[in-house]
Amino acid sequence: RQQGTNATTSFALAAVRRPDGPAFVDERGTLTWQDLQDRSAALAAGLVEVTGGPVETVAILCRNHRGFVDALIASSRLGASALLLNTGFSGPQLADVMEREGARVLLYDEEFAGVVADARARVEGLVEVLGWTDAPLPDGTLSIEGLIAQHTGRVPPKPAQRGRVVLLTSGTTGSPKGARRSGGGADELAGMLEKIPWRGEETVVVAAPMFHAWGFGQLVVAATMTCTVVTRRRFDPEATLALVDEHRASGLSVVPVMLERIMDLPAATLDRYCLGSLRFVSASGSRMRPQSVVAFMDRFGDLVHNSYNATEAGQISVARPADLRHAPDTAGRAVRGTLLRVVDDAGRDVGTDVVGRILVRGASPFDGYTAGASKEFIDGYMVSGDVGRLDAAGRLYVVGRDDDMIVSGGENVYPIEVEKVLGAHPAVREVVVVGVDDEAFGQRLAAYVVLGEGASADADELRSHVKGRLAGYKVPRDVVLLDALPRNASGKIMVRELPGVAS
Ligand code: ATP
Repeated sequence: RQQGTNATTSFALAAVRRPDGPAFVDERGTLTWQDLQDRSAALAAGLVEVTGGPVETVAILCRNHRGFVDALIASSRLGASALLLNTGFSGPQLADVMEREGARVLLYDEEFAGVVADARARVEGLVEVLGWTDAPLPDGTLSIEGLIAQHTGRVPPKPAQRGRVVLLTSGTTGSPKGARRSGGGADELAGMLEKIPWRGEETVVVAAPMFHAWGFGQLVVAATMTCTVVTRRRFDPEATLALVDEHRASGLSVVPVMLERIMDLPAATLDRYCLGSLRFVSASGSRMRPQSVVAFMDRFGDLVHNSYNATEAGQISVARPADLRHAPDTAGRAVRGTLLRVVDDAGRDVGTDVVGRILVRGASPFDGYTAGASKEFIDGYMVSGDVGRLDAAGRLYVVGRDDDMIVSGGENVYPIEVEKVLGAHPAVREVVVVGVDDEAFGQRLAAYVVLGEGASADADELRSHVKGRLAGYKVPRDVVLLDALPRNASGKIMVRELPGVAS
């Protein structure tokens, strides 16, 4: 994705506008916009020295902290690709992506040392640089902070090409793909800012992981608006509220599960924090539990913005608080510059409220994956891979993925319908419904349920709850109670990791 120049240009401009203004706040304190410029220049010079240069790809396996931003800007200064890696990767996944993208330099937080072994074995001459570390490092260990300290004041060589950022998809439906997109940066930004009330020079808590398209986009918007980003390496629901309160933040950027975790806190804990400074909460990356949206807005005000986006398309639509009050499960209307269609299998537009395949034509065209896979296009529109419907007012409802539909005994079932009914049972905290192979029916419905704290319900009770409300073939035959649903680092449910689901 050709975001590198935009990203770094935004940071450089912010340093011209407000050199001494607070840019980034993490556990180690506050950095100014000028600090970020100086640190990234030093890191870039250091990377050239330790690799012998030129550096083509800088792989970054870091949580949200200053080193992530230093590495991002440094790679752009070198005209390199910044490859943003998912902090939930296993060793083999990391090695696969590094190999495929031709990355020989890896910056990673010490906590991920265990997953680097495969890459070390497979990538010849791998240069390793540590990001966040808690303990002092043995002499000779390369680290982001060490390279910055040793090269402060040094200017990296002029890049021979434009830097860029490779964002990876989440790997929900297969292995993560590197997505390239070009142009459209300012248009896309305007589309988002028209819907979400960011203002310049204010403070935003970014809890969403920055390696992922959504959190990365939030970081770039903040730089463009010269907004101070406050973040922590690990998400904790109560600590997030405390950060908003302490910094009088105007905005909070999350992935949906974070909002859910916040609303799972006891009322007395929620009462402890003042969120009066907040003007918006922006969430994206997966479906939001409608009950959590309503609960959050009832408690803290009409703040929630649900944004539908995909690594390949950027911002597609945004539901504003008024849309969510109208229908808490909507993903809102298309952002400016983006066109949305819902079509049937033959590619014909379906009517209002009819479920079909979601097609997108965005402000920044998708230029393909870095390797292998490809996306299907119909009449210049990208096939999103999601299914949904548009209401009469043009609001989109994402119903699921193309391949989520379960065909059981010849009947089609969208899991979301069953999930909604089960999710409304008072004992149920989270639920996901999937199809599992079945000899007699082809597929049968299986519900994986996490109960609320202290709540009790057994499989029979949950089944009869569905039976009273939906057709018989929509009642899950399997109801499996779990302590937690398997989720990846950006909060998406990893269906293939559910017990009994073939990968
Ligand atoms: P892969 O392409 O590797 O299978 P992925 O599609 O999950 O992974 P991403 O680009 O990170 O990769 O996620 C985009 C997808 O996330 C969308 O296609 C959609 O399914 C889902 N999504 C994002 N935002 C929303 C939202 N607001 N509501 C519902 N679903 C959403």
